[in-house]
Amino acid sequence: MEKLLKGIAASEGIAIAKVYKLEKAKLNIKKILINDFQKEITKLEEALIKAKEQINNLKLKALKKLGEEKAAIFDAHLGILLDPELKEQVFNMIKNEKINASYAFLIISKNFQELFAQMNDPYMKERASDIKDVSERVLSILEGKEIKDLSLINQEVIILAHDLTPSETSQLNPKFVKGFVTEIGGKTSHSAIMARTLQIPAIVGIGDEIFKFKDQSQILIDGTDGILICHPDQKTKKLYQTKKEQELIFKKEEKTFKNKSSQSKDGWKTKIAANIGSPDDLVSYHNFGAEGIGLFRSEFLYMESENWPTEDEQFNAYKKVLQDLKSNLTVIRTLDIGGDKTLKYYQFPKEMNPFLGYRAIRVQLDQKKLLITQARALLRASAYGNLGINLPMIATVDEFLEVKEVFKKVENDLKKEGIKIGKYQLGIMVEIPSTVILADKFAKYSDFFSIGTNDLIQYTFAVDRMSKSVSYLYQPFNPAILKSIKTVIDSSHKYNKWTAICGEMASEEKLAPLFVGMGLDEFSMSATSVLKIRRIISKVDKKDAEKLVEKVLNLETSQQVEKILTDYLNKIL
Ligand code: PEP
Ligand code: MG
Repeated sequence: MEKLLKGIAASEGIAIAKVYKLEKAKLNIKKILINDFQKEITKLEEALIKAKEQINNLKLKALKKLGEEKAAIFDAHLGILLDPELKEQVFNMIKNEKINASYAFLIISKNFQELFAQMNDPYMKERASDIKDVSERVLSILEGKEIKDLSLINQEVIILAHDLTPSETSQLNPKFVKGFVTEIGGKTSHSAIMARTLQIPAIVGIGDEIFKFKDQSQILIDGTDGILICHPDQKTKKLYQTKKEQELIFKKEEKTFKNKSSQSKDGWKTKIAANIGSPDDLVSYHNFGAEGIGLFRSEFLYMESENWPTEDEQFNAYKKVLQDLKSNLTVIRTLDIGGDKTLKYYQFPKEMNPFLGYRAIRVQLDQKKLLITQARALLRASAYGNLGINLPMIATVDEFLEVKEVFKKVENDLKKEGIKIGKYQLGIMVEIPSTVILADKFAKYSDFFSIGTNDLIQYTFAVDRMSKSVSYLYQPFNPAILKSIKTVIDSSHKYNKWTAICGEMASEEKLAPLFVGMGLDEFSMSATSVLKIRRIISKVDKKDAEKLVEKVLNLETSQQVEKILTDYLNKIL
């Protein structure tokens, strides 16, 4: 009988194949007292050498298959493996407590994992899974239970696993591995990101029910909607076969949009830009034909650094992006730190509600030196391209004018120093309801608006964007949000300014026609979504979409809006 499970859609596409359960060899490591500690230390040294060889091999394979950026994960693994601190602690434990190498390595690596898992910074948190990956490898070698080599799979399967480590994911051969499903994980876990790079369907965080399925039984996965069906019947298979064919046609059609401009069926023009986190993301920017950078989250530069990045370090990163973009607009956002984004080298004040506290522009207004350093780097870089500067979490007109003053002063200082400055625009992120309510006042001063819908939803519904228990209130389709967006766009147009959306709502297919109807000037999103949205926009009739806006803004609930937008999308595609 058919059985259906729902998980998190991690990588789109449909696959049907036999189950391959990845059950890892159980390592039952016990504490054993030993006499000859030197022997244990030698054993561990040999295991570390072997692990190093294995990781180097994986790195070479990943370089060929996934490219340099993804293969870099194995440099991180080597870093952990060769970390002198970890090694020293294990050696000391073996010596001092006279115990076996496996047990000592297990305990010390677990301590390291916990340390990282407790960190607030999501990037550092992710490192915990890397340490686990490396530690499992070393322990398997020590215990003589080698890890399965997934690159040897030679029949079509869908892998079901508790989780897939980066080294396991990099071994997958898409010719045979048609997809994977994991018990745990989220949209941004390493395995999910790699699945998207390999372009194989994947579902994560589905729960432990998957382990009840037998090896070799047939399953179907829909990575676009996060659905798994075990023992699909003929009717289901046919249904999904049609959906798959449809998706393939869409994908093929999407590719033809790469070098086209973004415009509606009746010729109304907009722009689709990309969101990036570092100059490394420029590859995707070019691959998917984006028309500018709508959001460069500069905080990643700060998060990846060991200390506050200097003016020159920032200048070089900004200049690189601006030069690459040529005349296309690059909007760089000033430091948006705090909330869930922390820094290794700076202790934030402990607050009851960090998302409502010392965050983003508030930090830089309080510590002006940080703002001045970044402003100097940005304005120096402005000579190399077409720059927009975007201020996060602005709540009042006073705050904006205060920052504007700082930029004016920095500009004068640089000119006095004989440094060339290009033209630049200074705008604000609209992500706090007070800026929506006073949008017509802000529009007098701000060169543009960029709506950060991720936060705007959070602050409009008073719903923590990280909370699971109240996630039902996180409603992008609610008329309250849609009315706010329309207010912002209209206010900007009244003053001949422009509006972008750079939050996740910009890449929601069903909302694209609505935003066309509202006259949104720029959609900004992860580069991989650009072609999907450009294609949809090309099917929309602007006049028709304006009527859709009127209809939708008169509705009361999120469900009502989503229903109308779903029907509309089905009609035009
Ligand atoms: C947003 O809030 O929508 C946004 C784009 O910023 P971030 O997700 O970085 O907070
Ligand atoms: Mg935000």
